[in-house]
Amino acid sequence: MDNCLFCRIIKGEVPSKKVYEDGDVLAFEDINPQAPVHILIIPKKHIESVSGIKEEDAAAAGRLLIAAGKIAADRAADKAGYRVVFNTGADAGQAVFHIHAHLLAGRKMAWPPG
Ligand code: 5GP
Ligand code: ZN
Repeated sequence: MDNCLFCRIIKGEVPSKKVYEDGDVLAFEDINPQAPVHILIIPKKHIESVSGIKEEDAAAAGRLLIAAGKIAADRAADKAGYRVVFNTGADAGQAVFHIHAHLLAGRKMAWPPG
């Protein structure tokens, strides 16, 4: 998708601070971090949101979550705890319509979220 910000990051047209990459998944630092660790994890395939995941995306979606766990372990975030969030749709605050997991860690998280 030419006009999708995260597709442009995947293509290298928009710079990002990459922290992880494999054949299906890219992870990079959020530009406006909401916690000491705030990483966005995206599939390389353009999927708008959780609602757009199809059967054929099952492997890539699984690898995205495996990447989240690996990155959390690399940052030692798995010891104290961390949060993985998919904002989905307007009411949830989704601003970029290329599905992304927020990996948040390094501080105590509140529940329920705002
Ligand atoms: P959403 O609100 O859609 O769940 O999250 C979008 C996230 O993308 C936000 O946390 C925002 O800070 C981040 N973001 C927006 N533009 C850019 C960008 O150009 N680069 C990076 N690294 N993150 C971005
Ligand atoms: Zn995209």
